[in-house]
Amino acid sequence: MDCLFCKIVNREIPADIVYEDDQVLAFNDINPQAPTHVLIVPKRHIATLNDLEQDDLGLVGQLSFAAARMAKDYGFAEDGYRVVMNCNEKGGQSVYHVHMHLMGGRRFTWPAG
Ligand code: 5GP
Repeated sequence: MDCLFCKIVNREIPADIVYEDDQVLAFNDINPQAPTHVLIVPKRHIATLNDLEQDDLGLVGQLSFAAARMAKDYGFAEDGYRVVMNCNEKGGQSVYHVHMHLMGGRRFTWPAG
Protein backbone atom coordinates (compact mmCIF):
# COMPACT_ATOMS: atom_id res chain seq x y z
CA MET A 1 0.00 0.00 0.00
CA ASP A 2 1.34 3.39 -0.96
CA CYS A 3 0.93 5.08 2.41
CA LEU A 4 3.66 7.26 3.88
CA PHE A 5 2.88 6.44 7.50
CA CYS A 6 2.57 2.70 6.78
CA LYS A 7 6.07 2.94 5.31
CA ILE A 8 7.31 4.60 8.50
CA VAL A 9 5.57 1.92 10.60
CA ASN A 10 7.25 -0.77 8.46
CA ARG A 11 10.65 0.98 8.67
CA GLU A 12 10.72 1.39 4.89
CA ILE A 13 11.43 5.10 5.27
CA PRO A 14 13.19 6.67 8.25
CA ALA A 15 11.59 8.68 11.02
CA ASP A 16 12.63 9.93 14.41
CA ILE A 17 10.62 7.43 16.47
CA VAL A 18 9.89 8.52 20.03
CA TYR A 19 7.37 5.91 21.24
CA GLU A 20 6.17 2.47 20.24
CA ASP A 21 3.89 -0.20 21.62
CA ASP A 22 2.07 -3.13 20.06
CA GLN A 23 -0.54 -0.99 18.31
CA VAL A 24 0.84 2.55 18.17
CA LEU A 25 3.91 4.32 16.79
CA ALA A 26 4.92 7.94 17.46
CA PHE A 27 7.55 9.98 15.66
CA ASN A 28 8.58 13.61 15.33
CA ASP A 29 6.80 15.64 12.66
CA ILE A 30 9.13 16.54 9.80
CA ASN A 31 7.78 20.12 9.80
CA PRO A 32 7.23 20.91 13.49
CA GLN A 33 4.73 23.60 14.44
CA ALA A 34 5.80 23.68 18.09
CA PRO A 35 8.98 22.93 20.07
CA THR A 36 7.60 19.39 20.45
CA HIS A 37 5.45 18.11 17.59
CA VAL A 38 4.87 14.37 17.55
CA LEU A 39 2.59 12.34 15.29
CA ILE A 40 0.94 9.33 16.93
CA VAL A 41 -0.38 6.75 14.50
CA PRO A 42 -2.05 3.35 14.70
CA LYS A 43 0.21 0.69 13.18
CA ARG A 44 -2.75 -0.62 11.23
CA HIS A 45 -3.78 1.46 8.23
CA ILE A 46 -6.96 3.48 8.77
CA ALA A 47 -7.29 6.33 6.26
CA THR A 48 -9.39 8.89 8.14
CA LEU A 49 -11.40 9.34 11.30
CA ASN A 50 -14.46 8.57 9.17
CA ASP A 51 -13.16 5.05 8.63
CA LEU A 52 -13.03 4.15 12.32
CA GLU A 53 -15.28 1.29 13.33
CA GLN A 54 -16.70 0.23 16.67
CA ASP A 55 -13.84 -2.22 17.11
CA ASP A 56 -11.33 0.64 16.80
CA LEU A 57 -12.51 2.56 19.86
CA GLY A 58 -9.82 1.04 22.04
CA LEU A 59 -7.23 2.12 19.53
CA VAL A 60 -8.35 5.75 19.71
CA GLY A 61 -8.03 5.50 23.49
CA GLN A 62 -4.49 4.22 23.05
CA LEU A 63 -3.59 7.19 20.84
CA SER A 64 -4.94 9.60 23.48
CA PHE A 65 -3.29 7.73 26.32
CA ALA A 66 0.04 7.73 24.50
CA ALA A 67 -0.30 11.49 23.91
CA ALA A 68 -0.96 12.19 27.59
CA ARG A 69 1.88 9.94 28.70
CA MET A 70 4.31 11.62 26.30
CA ALA A 71 3.14 15.08 27.43
CA LYS A 72 4.10 14.06 30.96
CA ASP A 73 7.45 12.69 29.78
CA TYR A 74 8.20 15.88 27.83
CA GLY A 75 7.29 17.91 30.91
CA PHE A 76 4.47 20.06 29.51
CA ALA A 77 1.46 18.08 30.76
CA GLU A 78 0.75 20.53 33.58
CA ASP A 79 1.37 23.71 31.55
CA GLY A 80 -0.83 22.43 28.74
CA TYR A 81 -0.54 21.22 25.19
CA ARG A 82 -2.52 20.74 22.01
CA VAL A 83 -3.80 17.51 20.47
CA VAL A 84 -5.26 17.66 16.96
CA MET A 85 -6.71 15.18 14.50
CA ASN A 86 -7.43 16.58 11.05
CA CYS A 87 -10.01 14.88 8.87
CA ASN A 88 -10.20 15.16 5.08
CA GLU A 89 -9.33 18.08 2.87
CA LYS A 90 -11.17 20.94 4.56
CA GLY A 91 -10.03 19.66 7.93
CA GLY A 92 -6.42 20.04 6.85
CA GLN A 93 -5.55 16.35 6.50
CA SER A 94 -2.64 15.79 4.13
CA VAL A 95 -1.59 12.23 4.99
CA TYR A 96 -4.40 9.70 4.74
CA HIS A 97 -3.43 7.45 7.63
CA VAL A 98 -5.12 8.42 10.91
CA HIS A 99 -2.79 10.37 13.17
CA MET A 100 -2.92 12.49 16.26
CA HIS A 101 -0.72 15.58 16.44
CA LEU A 102 0.76 16.16 19.90
CA MET A 103 2.19 19.67 20.19
CA GLY A 104 3.72 21.25 23.25
CA GLY A 105 6.26 23.73 24.49
CA ARG A 106 4.47 26.92 23.52
CA ARG A 107 1.12 28.65 24.07
CA PHE A 108 -1.66 27.78 21.60
CA THR A 109 -4.49 30.04 20.55
CA TRP A 110 -8.14 29.27 19.92
CA PRO A 111 -9.91 29.01 17.53
CA ALA A 112 -7.41 27.02 15.52
CA GLY A 113 -6.79 28.38 12.02
P1 5GP B 1 -2.03 16.28 8.49
O1 5GP B 1 -1.89 17.54 7.69
O2 5GP B 1 -2.40 15.11 7.61
O3 5GP B 1 -2.92 16.41 9.69
O4 5GP B 1 -0.60 16.00 9.09
C1 5GP B 1 0.40 15.34 8.38
C2 5GP B 1 1.71 15.68 9.04
O5 5GP B 1 2.68 14.81 8.54
C3 5GP B 1 2.20 17.11 8.75
O6 5GP B 1 2.32 17.83 9.97
C4 5GP B 1 3.54 16.90 8.06
O7 5GP B 1 4.51 17.84 8.45
C5 5GP B 1 3.91 15.49 8.48
N1 5GP B 1 4.74 14.78 7.52
C6 5GP B 1 4.58 14.75 6.16
N2 5GP B 1 5.51 13.97 5.61
C7 5GP B 1 6.27 13.48 6.62
C8 5GP B 1 7.40 12.61 6.66
O8 5GP B 1 7.89 12.10 5.65
N3 5GP B 1 7.92 12.33 7.89
C9 5GP B 1 7.40 12.87 9.03
N4 5GP B 1 7.99 12.55 10.17
N5 5GP B 1 6.33 13.70 9.03
C10 5GP B 1 5.78 13.99 7.84
